[in-house]
Amino acid sequence: MIRSDSAPASDFIRSIVIQDLKTNKHGGRVVTRFPPEPNGYLHIGHAKSICLNFGIATENKSAVCHLRFDDTNPSKEDVEYVESIKEDIKWLGFDWGEHLYYTSDYFDKLYEYAVQLIKNSKAYVCDLIPDEMREYRGTLTEPGKESPYRKRSVEENLDLFKRMKAGEIENGLRVLRAKIDMASPNLNMRDPVIYRIVKTAHHRTENKWCIYPMYDFSHCVSDSIEGITHSNCTLEFEDHRPLYDWFLDELNTECHPQQIEFARLNLTYTVMSKRKLLELVEGGHVNGWDDPRMPTISGLRRRGYTPESIHNFLKRIGISKKESTVDIALLEHCLREDLNKRAPRVMGVLKPLKVVITNYPDDKEEELDAINNPEDPNMGTRKIPFSKVLYIEQDDFMEDPPKKFYRLGPGREIRLRYAYFIKCEEVIKDKHTGEIIELRCTYDPETKGGSAPDGRKVKATIHWVSAKHTLETEVRLYDHLFDTPNPTSTDDNKNFKDHLNPGSLEILRSCRLEPSLKEAKPGEKYQFERLGYFCVDTIDSAHGHPVFNRTVSLRDTWAKIQKAQKKG
Ligand code: ATP
Ligand code: MG
Repeated sequence: MIRSDSAPASDFIRSIVIQDLKTNKHGGRVVTRFPPEPNGYLHIGHAKSICLNFGIATENKSAVCHLRFDDTNPSKEDVEYVESIKEDIKWLGFDWGEHLYYTSDYFDKLYEYAVQLIKNSKAYVCDLIPDEMREYRGTLTEPGKESPYRKRSVEENLDLFKRMKAGEIENGLRVLRAKIDMASPNLNMRDPVIYRIVKTAHHRTENKWCIYPMYDFSHCVSDSIEGITHSNCTLEFEDHRPLYDWFLDELNTECHPQQIEFARLNLTYTVMSKRKLLELVEGGHVNGWDDPRMPTISGLRRRGYTPESIHNFLKRIGISKKESTVDIALLEHCLREDLNKRAPRVMGVLKPLKVVITNYPDDKEEELDAINNPEDPNMGTRKIPFSKVLYIEQDDFMEDPPKKFYRLGPGREIRLRYAYFIKCEEVIKDKHTGEIIELRCTYDPETKGGSAPDGRKVKATIHWVSAKHTLETEVRLYDHLFDTPNPTSTDDNKNFKDHLNPGSLEILRSCRLEPSLKEAKPGEKYQFERLGYFCVDTIDSAHGHPVFNRTVSLRDTWAKIQKAQKKG
C-alpha cells in the first residue's frame, strides 16, 4: 500500500522500537546500525536501510544509530568507497556523530571469540578444499556429511588456527568452521566457515592479518560489541538468524541484539546490486558510479534528485516483510512533487528553430515580465529579453499539422509565453536539403503579455528565447538505463547487460537557454517550461558555462497509472 506523504513514518519495526522503549526492554536505550561493506557506492536500496536505521535514531530521543563499515574482505574494499558512503549518508541528512566504527577495529576481539569457540569444542580447522566442502555440504533435500577433520582435538585446532593467523598456510587450504549440525535442514547451520585465509593487504589494518572473519560471524559479534539493540537487515538474512543467535548464545555475550528482517527495495528498469553496478562501471557501460543514469545515491544526486524526494518516496513505500518491486515512476513522481515546489521556471530551447518577426523593429529590445514559480509567489518575477530574432522548439512547428496539433503551422497564430501572439507567414527551407531553416512571422503589438484586446483566442502557448541573448550550451537527456522493467529476470536467458537501453543518454550540444542561466551554479535546479526539470551538472560545468542534466520530464506516468487504477 502506498502511504500519503504527510503522515509520519510508521511500520512494524518502528512499532517494535517504540514498544521496547515503553517497556524499558533495553534499559530505555535503542541502538541501531547501518553496516555497509565498502566495496562499492551506495544505491537507493541502501537509502531505504539508512532512512530506517538513522530515521529511528532521529525520531526517538534515546535512540542512536551507528555507522559501521563492514570491512572484512580486503580484496574488494577501498577507501574511495568509505568516503563516498559517508558523503551519501550526510547528503541524505543523517549524522552518525561519534558513532563511526569499522569491523576491522574488532579483529583482535573477533579472533579471541573464535579461539573461545575452539576451546568450547564449537569450532574446528578444516582442510577440505572448496569443491569438497560443497560436496560435503549436501543439498536442500539431502543432509550433509561430516568433515573428516571435525574430530580434531582442541589443542590441534588451537595450534592450526594460530598457524593460519601467522601466515604459515596458503590461501584456500584451510578454514575455521563452526561445529553445529551437518544434518540441519537449514544449510547455514551446516558447519559454516568462520575464518578464511586471504593474503591481501587491508585498507586499514594493512598486513597485520591474513585471516579474515566471515560475515555471519563478524556481524553478530560486532553488533554485540557495540551494544546494538535492533539489528535490522533485509529478508535474505532471515535464514541466517538461527546462526546469528547460535554464535551469540555459544559465546554467551552480554549483549544479544534482536535481528529483524524487512523486504529490500527493488525498482523497475534498473539493477540494485553493487556487484552488477560495478560491472557497469568497469565495463564502461556508464560514466562512473555517479553517472546520472545510475541508481546510486551519487548518481541520483548528480541527476538532480533532492534528499527530500528520496525520503518521501521511501516513506510512501514503507517497510514491510513482503518482497515487491516498486515502479520507478513512483520515485519520479515524488521527485516532480518536490521540484515543482522549489524549482524556478525558466525558458530554454533544446532543438532550436529560428523565427524572425518581420514587423518587429530591427534594433528594438524589450524586457518582459516572467513569473519564477506559479506555485510560490514568494519566488517573485524576472525580466526576459525579447527581440526580432527568436528561437522556438523544432517540435513546436509542423508544416503540415495533423488534427490535434495546435501549435505553430503555416498561417497559424499562437502565443509566445509572457510575450505576444505571433503568426507564421512564411517557411524558409534550405535549397539543397529541403530542411526548414527559418520561419518568418508577424507579431501583434496589441497582444503584449499574452492576451488580445479584441478577445480572440489562440490554441497554444509555446516557449522561446531571444536569439542574441541566449546561453548556448549542452543539455543531456536521460531515459531508463534498461529497456525492460526487470533486467535481471532469467526468463529470457539473457545477461542483464543485454538489456541496457541504447537510448538512455542523448546529448544535445546547441541548446539555447534564457540568459539568466549563465549565472547558474553547479547543482542548481530549474524547470525548463514545458520540458521538465533540469539541474546544472556538478562535474562538467565551468564558471559561466553551465551544462544541464534533465532530471525528469514533466510527464507524470505515475499519476496516469493511479488514474487508470481508480477508473478500473
Ligand atoms: P548489494 O546486494 O547491492 O551488493 P549488500 O547488501 O551487499 O548490497 P551492504 O553494504 O552489505 O550491501 O549493505 C548494507 C546494508 O544495506 C545491509 O543492511 C543491507 O541489508 C542493506 N541493503 C542493501 N540493499 C538493500 C535494498 N535493496 N533494500 C534495502 N536495504 C538494502
Ligand atoms: Mg553485503
